[in-house]
Amino acid sequence: MHKYNSLCLDHELKEVPVQFPSDESENNVVPSSSLQRSDDFLECTSSSACADQVCNDIGALLTSSKSMEEICASISNLSQGEMFSYLYRHVQPPSNLPATFLYGANRKFGISWVIKFPWILYSPKVNGIFCGPCAILLPVDKRKDKGLLVNRPFSNWIKLSSVLNDHSKLKYHRDCLQLADTIKSSVENPASRVDVMTSNTLQAIIKENEHILKQIVRSIIFLSKQAIAFRGNSEVIDSSKNPGNFLALLKVFAESDEVLYNHLHNPKAKIAKHLSPQTQNELINIIGYDVILSKIVSEIKKAKYYSVLADEVSCHHVEHLPICVRFLDANNDIREEFISFIKLERV
Ligand SMILES: [Zn+2]
Repeated sequence: MHKYNSLCLDHELKEVPVQFPSDESENNVVPSSSLQRSDDFLECTSSSACADQVCNDIGALLTSSKSMEEICASISNLSQGEMFSYLYRHVQPPSNLPATFLYGANRKFGISWVIKFPWILYSPKVNGIFCGPCAILLPVDKRKDKGLLVNRPFSNWIKLSSVLNDHSKLKYHRDCLQLADTIKSSVENPASRVDVMTSNTLQAIIKENEHILKQIVRSIIFLSKQAIAFRGNSEVIDSSKNPGNFLALLKVFAESDEVLYNHLHNPKAKIAKHLSPQTQNELINIIGYDVILSKIVSEIKKAKYYSVLADEVSCHHVEHLPICVRFLDANNDIREEFISFIKLERV
C-alpha cells in the first residue's frame, strides 16, 4: 500500500478533470508510469497539513484491525456532529491515487466514481472506499453481517461498477441515505429540527402564558391594595352589564397589550382562561398566604422585640379573633401587621 502525504487536497481535486466512468475506464486500468509515488505527498496529520481543515478519514475509524464489536462500539459512540463530519467533511481523494496490481494490470480508484455515486467515501488511509451513509449510520443490529463497503473497505476496482450498482439498490442503503440527508439538514439548519421546532413553540407558549398570568396578578394586587371589590353583575368580559372591576381592569390593560387582548377575546384554550372567580380567589390566597404573609412572618422571626395583639369581634353571629403582631423591623421602625382571623368556636 502506498503511503500518502496530504490527504486533504481539495485544491488538487479541483484541478483534476473529472469524467464519468466509461466502459474503458470502468476497470480503472492505469499506465504503469503513473503508479510512481509522488514525493509531494506527505502523510496527513491533524496537527500539520490538516490543521486548519476538517480532516476525517473513515478508514481510520473502520480499520481492519478492529473486531466487529469494536467497530460497532466506535460507530455507536459517534455524536451527530462527528457523523456529519465523516459524511460531509470527509477527506478528499488526492489527485494522484495509488494503484494496485490486480488481474494482470495496475488499477486504481477513479475519482469520477465519487461524482457518479456521491455517497462513496474514499479513504486514503486504506486505499479503499466505503458507502458513507451505511458505514456511519447503519444501526449496530443491522451491520454485523455486513462486510465490504460498510464495515470493511472495498478495493477490488475491477468489480467496482457492479458492486456499487448493486449496493445502491439495497433497502438499508436507501434508508441510510435518507437518514444522512436528515442529519445534514439538522446540522446545517438546526431550526428545521423537529425537536428544536417543538421546543421553540413550547417556549413561545410558556412565555405568552407567563405574560398573561403576570397581567392577571397585577390586576389582583392593584384591586387588593386599593380594597376594591373584584366582581360585578356579570363575569363575562364583553358583557353589556358590569363585568366587575377585575375584568374591567384587564380590559383596560388589554387596550395596549395585544397578547392579553387575544387572550380575553379569542383565547387559545377556552377552558383555561384563568379569569373565573375561583381562579381569582386561588390567586388571592397564593399572594396573601404564600407571598405576603410568609414575608411578614419571616420579618417577625428576625425581630428582637414584638408583641401579639388580639381582640374578639363578631361578624354575622360568628366570633372571630383577629391576630396582629407589633414588632421592630430591620429598619428599627415599629410596625403592626395583621396576621389572620381565627374563627372562635365559643367565647
Ligand atoms: Zn450504502
